[in-house]
Amino acid sequence: MAHLLITGGAGFIGSHCCVALLEAGHGLVVLDNFDNSSPEALRRVAELGGLQGEARGPWRDGHGAVRLQLVEGDVRCADDLDAAFTTSPEGIGAVVHCAGLKAVGESVAEPLRYWDTNLGGSLRLLEAMRRHGCRTIVFSSSATLYGYPDTVPIPETAPIQPINPYGHSKAAVEQVLADVAASEAGWRIARLRYFNPVGSHPSGRIGEDPEGIPNNLFPYLSQVAVGRRQALHIFGSDWPTPDGTGVRDYIHVMDLADGHRAALDTLLREEPQLLTVNLGSGQGHSVLDVVHAFEAACGHRLPYELVDRRPGDAATTVADPGLASARLDWRTRRSLADICRDGWAWQSANPRGYGP
Ligand code: NAD
Ligand code: UDP
Repeated sequence: MAHLLITGGAGFIGSHCCVALLEAGHGLVVLDNFDNSSPEALRRVAELGGLQGEARGPWRDGHGAVRLQLVEGDVRCADDLDAAFTTSPEGIGAVVHCAGLKAVGESVAEPLRYWDTNLGGSLRLLEAMRRHGCRTIVFSSSATLYGYPDTVPIPETAPIQPINPYGHSKAAVEQVLADVAASEAGWRIARLRYFNPVGSHPSGRIGEDPEGIPNNLFPYLSQVAVGRRQALHIFGSDWPTPDGTGVRDYIHVMDLADGHRAALDTLLREEPQLLTVNLGSGQGHSVLDVVHAFEAACGHRLPYELVDRRPGDAATTVADPGLASARLDWRTRRSLADICRDGWAWQSANPRGYGP
């Protein structure tokens, strides 16, 4: 049990990590500026953890102990970071760094904003960690680092060859973390390379709530299912895959959250180290597989149109999850059917996400 700082803890992945880490007994401080999330997500995290408090916390357990706190602020701001590191009398034992910008297309249009938040925010965070004597961090990295992969399933040793500013910014942070680990003894660092996180907590109380038109398959399809969008556009039916549509390694967001818990356990238990692992299932599913699994979950047909390939897409990306299994004793437990069932629980109960 430790006191943890979760940057971006109100976001899609951060909120699910909070649920898993509260369940593991940790006390949490969330730093988020709500650039792409809502305070309501944290209120619901508290509710799922059986905690009580005001709309913006702090939230306490049945014994009156503060278990979840919010610092509304920016990961690029030293004062906000200092507030996050000092808000809990126990201090901060480790950081889970999820705050960042993640839309590939937007990163092409606004590279400076992406470098500022993703790299600049990480630099400011690492400086704050040094100021406050914290040397343990789990970083949200991405399989996007592998670009067009040369081998599938993709091992962690595959070349790092990102193809857009978002991927470049993640690769840069990975490099900074490696340099920091090499510069001084005592750092415990995990770089977790996520494949395609989807689905939601099985309660349907928290989930993915993208602004505007979703770029990614799963939220788009969920919105088709709930009647917010007319039809899915399937980007390419002539890929070199079994049914011609793109293949990805979809991972249930609660499996991903469990992966963070396992990474923290490993870092806090073992000698200081730099750990780099894929978080994926090792199973590939095509776009049509996902459409059919979601139809089974929501109980009706989902209209789709086959359109041209999307520029920048790869045919197939699937993780080699062997290292995560060996080093973290972690593997995915939830199936594509579980992903669609839980994703539908969220979308059907919250057709407009956290909004009114
Ligand atoms: P998200 O947008 O839902 O969550 C990111 C959170 O960070 C949001 O709550 C946002 O408000 C916050 N944030 C953004 N800029 C901030 C700033 N300057 N200061 C403080 N908070 C800030 O995204 P997500 O899907 O939960 O992704 C979390 C992390 O995982 C990101 O770093 C993302 O790059 C990475 N990742 C996501 C995916 C994915 O498919 N979702 C895949 C690989 C990696
Ligand atoms: N995809 C699609 N229609 C959409 C969004 C995505 O056909 O509206 C396809 C995309 O071409 C890819 C897969 O779904 O084969 C997963 O795409 P997503 O954007 O969710 O993840 P990523 O490409 O980042 O792995």
